[in-house]
Amino acid sequence: MNEKHDLEGLMPEDVELRIIVNKPQVCPIPTGSTSSEEHESFYTELSEHHLHTAETAINLYPNGTGTVMIPVTVTDQNNRPVPGVNVTFHVEAMNPTGTGWRTEDGMVARFGTKSRNKIRQRIQNGRIRLLGTLSRTTAITDSVGSAETLYTVSHIGGNQPQMATEHVITAIGTDSITTTTINIGYDWMAPIPSVENGLRIIGAIGTHVHKDLVPRLQMLGETIARARWTYPVTITAGNLRWGGLYPPHFTHQQGTELDVRPMTTDGKRGTWQQKNYDRPRTQELVDLLTNIGAGKIYFNDPQIIGASRLAGHDNHLHVSFTAPVTNMLQLTDGTKPSPGNLALT
Ligand SMILES: [Zn+2]
Repeated sequence: MNEKHDLEGLMPEDVELRIIVNKPQVCPIPTGSTSSEEHESFYTELSEHHLHTAETAINLYPNGTGTVMIPVTVTDQNNRPVPGVNVTFHVEAMNPTGTGWRTEDGMVARFGTKSRNKIRQRIQNGRIRLLGTLSRTTAITDSVGSAETLYTVSHIGGNQPQMATEHVITAIGTDSITTTTINIGYDWMAPIPSVENGLRIIGAIGTHVHKDLVPRLQMLGETIARARWTYPVTITAGNLRWGGLYPPHFTHQQGTELDVRPMTTDGKRGTWQQKNYDRPRTQELVDLLTNIGAGKIYFNDPQIIGASRLAGHDNHLHVSFTAPVTNMLQLTDGTKPSPGNLALT
């Protein structure tokens, strides 16, 4: 075969008209095979697979580790595979877009000044991913006209009604282009319940939790309302609608974490060092949270039993349900939630 792999090198003038390269047919089903026979059967079923793909969205969790292989086949006008064609791949963010989600500086600006170096470092070393990446951005179709790239997911699930979406664009030159749609989000999120005189949410952008926590939070709120506390419990941060990175938090990604205000004597916000701080009620709150399954609570009042001290937790309790929910979850990709391996805010 011609050693030159670019498209023009394969198309002498007298054949050029015969070889019309169709749009690459993207079929995000791992081929798994290298034998040409199986490739051929794969190829003959390709149009069917392709239609199937159009109806079946690819869904990944916004955990920075999920992958999907994207094989493409280049064919001529007679549906015959064309080897030796240079195809390019790249990723585009469709939703959410904008610098605040998808650029390093934009994301860094959404974090508190003390956290900015840390978030920038994590974006730069790939521990936090603002856009999916590809194992390769160019490939040459093989003897059966196939090429592939491996997509690895971002940490962006977003907070819009629609799940986050990224496109993998496959192109031959500039005019033959095909798109693979990847939807990114956890499918287990549900709104945090409100209970009159028991549980409220104030100032949170992320108002969702793992659905298994909803009945427990409902129970917490009803318990407090029944006990006629002067003020309800106040949640100030849950998780985004689809999970994933929730600036300015490093955790709060998988639906298992909440920020809660300490109880006060005036129903307003405050730290445990302030005059309006209500220690007995806050201790009761910690006990109730533990009763409904909180595995770890961070709060800095040293007299509170059942909470651990951690910088930045004077004005709120960080409540993690990771452990019990991990036991309940049957994650479809075989992984377990692991917010615990990130520093907390
Ligand atoms: Zn928190």
